[in-house]
Amino acid sequence: MFHFYNTLTRSKEPFTPIVPGTVGIYACGPTVYWFAHIGNMRAFLFADVLRRALELEGMDVKFVMNITDVGHLTDDGDAGEDKMLVAMRREGKSAYEIAAFYTEAFLKDLERLHIEPASALTRATEHIPEQIAMIEEIERNGLAYRTSDGMYFDTSKLPAYGQLSGQASSEKLAGARVDMGEKRHATDFALWKFSYPNGRSFDGAQDDTASQRQMEWESPWGKGFPGWHIECSAMSKKYLGVPFDIHTGGIDHIPVHHENEIAQTLGADGVLEANVWMHAEFLIMHGGKMSKSLGNLFTLQDLVDKGYDPIAYRYLVLQAHYRTKLDFSFEALEAAQNALHRLRNVVRDWDAPVDTGCAEYEVRFFGALQDDLNTSQALAVAWEMVGDDGQPSAARGHALLRFDRVLGLGLDAYVSRPLEIPRAVRALADLREQARAAHDFAEADRLRAEILSRGFVVEDATDGWKIRAA
Ligand code: AMP
Ligand code: ZN
Repeated sequence: MFHFYNTLTRSKEPFTPIVPGTVGIYACGPTVYWFAHIGNMRAFLFADVLRRALELEGMDVKFVMNITDVGHLTDDGDAGEDKMLVAMRREGKSAYEIAAFYTEAFLKDLERLHIEPASALTRATEHIPEQIAMIEEIERNGLAYRTSDGMYFDTSKLPAYGQLSGQASSEKLAGARVDMGEKRHATDFALWKFSYPNGRSFDGAQDDTASQRQMEWESPWGKGFPGWHIECSAMSKKYLGVPFDIHTGGIDHIPVHHENEIAQTLGADGVLEANVWMHAEFLIMHGGKMSKSLGNLFTLQDLVDKGYDPIAYRYLVLQAHYRTKLDFSFEALEAAQNALHRLRNVVRDWDAPVDTGCAEYEVRFFGALQDDLNTSQALAVAWEMVGDDGQPSAARGHALLRFDRVLGLGLDAYVSRPLEIPRAVRALADLREQARAAHDFAEADRLRAEILSRGFVVEDATDGWKIRAA
C-alpha cells in the first residue's frame, strides 16, 4: 500500500483510491508564454513518477494536465501585467501563436524527459463555457461579488478558506501588502476579469491601442477573460469528477492557486476538490531561487546545448526525494550523467532477461516507492541489485526493466544489447592510443573529437581504451 504526504492534512497517510483500482490525478500544467525551465520540469517529473508508480501497482490511472494558454497577470494578487501580453510585445506574435509555440516546446520537453503523455491535456481556452458555468454556480451560492474590473470570490464567506496552507485568512490579510483595489478582503481573488474596466484595457492602456486583448470572451458579467484559478477547478471537475484522488503541483501553488481551487470547488459544488494534495519542492541553484534576472535559469534545451542527455536530468531529479529542495549544479548534472552512462554500460553485457526477477530487491524497491515515493532510496536499491553478481544477470535484467517502468530511464534500449563498435571507430581509438603513447596530445584530442562525431566516447582503461556510446 502507498503512503503519501498530504499537504492538506500535513501527514503521511495510507492512500486509498475513491474507486478501487483506479486513480484520478490532476497536475497543474505550465503557463505557455515562455519556455518551461528545468525547475518547472522537476514538478512534472514528480507527477510522472507518481503516475508510473501507481500504474506499475496495477492501478488504472487517469492523468489530466492543463495548459494555461490564456493570459494572466504577472503576480498572484490579480495585479501586474498580463504575461501573454508581455510575450506578444516581446515577440510580435498573436496570443494564440505564442500559446501554440510554447505548448509545442513544452510537449517536446516532456517527450525528451520520458514523461508519459497525459490521458487528457486540457487547454484553458478550450474550456471557457465550463469556467463560466462554474462561476455562475459560485455566484448563485452567494460567494461572488462584482467590482469595476471583474467578478471576485468572497473568501470571508467560506469558513474553510485557508485550510491547505494552514493560514487563516485574517493572518494572510495581516501579512498582505497587495494593492486591494476594490477587493473586500486581501485573500479574495478574481474569477472573471473584464477586458476594459472603466473604459481602459486591464493593463492601463486605452482600448484602441495595440495592446487590445486577443483572448476575450462574452460572459453573463461582460466581455473578459477567466481568472487564473478557475480553469483548474472547472477542468478537473469535467475530466475527473469531484472529489478526485490526487492533485499535484509545485509548493508555490499551496498558498494561493490551490487554496483558491479548493475554495471554488467548495463554493460551486460543496465538495472538496481532491482528497490528496501533493507538492514538489523547488529546484534551486547555489542555495537560492532560479530566476532569469540572476542568469541561472536554464531550459532543457540549454542542457542539451551544453552536451547533456535530457535523461541525465531525469536521473538527477530521481536522486532527490520530491519533498526536498534540489540544488542544481552542472557538477551534479555531470555526476548524474556519468552514473547513467555507467548503468547503461553495465547492463549491455547482461544475458537476455528471463521471466523471474530478484524478489528481494523488488520488495525493497517498491517498498521505497510506496513510502511517499522515495525515489532516491529506490535508485539506491536498483544499483545494489545491479552490482549483485550473485544474482543471474537475466533475473537482474527482468527486475531492472520493471523498475524502469517507474524510473523511466529508457533502459530497455540497453539491457542485454551489447554495443556494436564499428571497425573504423576501433581503428581511430587505436591511433589515439598510439598518439598518447607518443605524447602527441593534440593529435590524441583530435582523434577523440573525431570518434565523438561518430557517436562514441573513448575513455582510457588500464589495458588500453574503452568505448561507449556518446
Ligand atoms: P508555471 O508555469 O509557473 O505555472 O509553473 C509550472 C510548475 O512548475 C508549477 O507546478 C510550479 O509550482 C513549478 N515550479 C516553478 N518554479 C519551480 C522551481 N524552481 N522548482 C520546481 N518547480 C517549480
Ligand atoms: Zn492549477
